[in-house]
Amino acid sequence: MRKRVIVLGSTGSIGCSSLDVVRGLSDEWEVVGLAAGSRAVELAAQANEFRPPAVAISSSKAAAELRSGLAYSPKVIHGDDALTRLVETVECDCVVCAVVGCQGLSATLVAVERGRRIALANKEALVVAGSVLIPLAQQTGAEIIPVDSEHSAIFQALQAGRREDVHKVYLTASGGPFRTWSSAQMAGVTLEDALNHPTWDMGPKITIDSATMMNKALEIVEARWLFGLPVERIGVVIHPESIIHSLVEFCDGAMIAQLSTPDMKTPIQYALTYPERRPCPVKHLDLVESRQLNLCAPDADRFPALRLGDAVARRGGTSGAVLNAANEAAVDLFRSGAIRFLDIVRYVEQTLREHAFVASPTLEELLAADHWARQEVIRCTTC
Ligand code: MG
Repeated sequence: MRKRVIVLGSTGSIGCSSLDVVRGLSDEWEVVGLAAGSRAVELAAQANEFRPPAVAISSSKAAAELRSGLAYSPKVIHGDDALTRLVETVECDCVVCAVVGCQGLSATLVAVERGRRIALANKEALVVAGSVLIPLAQQTGAEIIPVDSEHSAIFQALQAGRREDVHKVYLTASGGPFRTWSSAQMAGVTLEDALNHPTWDMGPKITIDSATMMNKALEIVEARWLFGLPVERIGVVIHPESIIHSLVEFCDGAMIAQLSTPDMKTPIQYALTYPERRPCPVKHLDLVESRQLNLCAPDADRFPALRLGDAVARRGGTSGAVLNAANEAAVDLFRSGAIRFLDIVRYVEQTLREHAFVASPTLEELLAADHWARQEVIRCTTC
């Protein structure tokens, strides 16, 4: 019997790569559910190819368009909680969570409650609610396997030793398009500049997060939850070529790194097939093909988001929810032209400073902190 996978966020960048992976593994895996936000035409085309028994779309307005595009009769779930209901109603072996932003949290939570394997590309779920998801996964036996390329690299490198023998992990960062820009130059960054990532082809939100290096800040918090490490044991190193995807340093001084071409199909497939490996439709790395691997220290003065990542990973509580929500709100405002590039991190920092911190929050308190932070960023821009 083939293993069954649900792909949440199937029409986005990671979702499409996930379906490429399943095409290559079609002897072993079948798609039993697909979910998207509003892209009904693309979702219908994917459903017609993979024929899952259920499809979900968050936008109720797009549901009619989805139905009219379907060449068979799957169950169609729509509405704000469509992704969550898909995971609740369809049996599966793995949920690929490739939804962008906090909206993936409740579906991830259901997958964890049901003890599924979760191929987690949605770092925001852990940043917001790692304090709830990780202990729950330990109770239910859910396996949270990272798809984020850096965390997948660390997860792969960790197979080389015992957890108690890890000295430190290093997240690599491309540095984004403004790696060599001065703060004065960054003050005039346009949306087009920020959407032009040098090595990775990703969706717009994560591309802007890479440009501010907020992406790395979120990843520090993500690593703190995934690997249970204090922030002192999580380092960041700039590596512009995006070939070394991250490293683990063990207590004997040995460093184990994972290298490959920058293609998300490698970490997605590993999350499905772990602990096994399969051939994957990616370009293999040619180590001697004029390849230079540069590494240097990050500059937290030009990229203050990095300090926020450290502070939030150290503090825990509601600060992850506030960091993430304030950033999502500020990125939206930048994309709409309402604020400037450097204001994104400035507003996030201000919101973190203003928030009423709760040290051991419930899920409801985390969601309330998320809601407050979004409102606060909008309030800041009007006062
Ligand atoms: Mg990443």
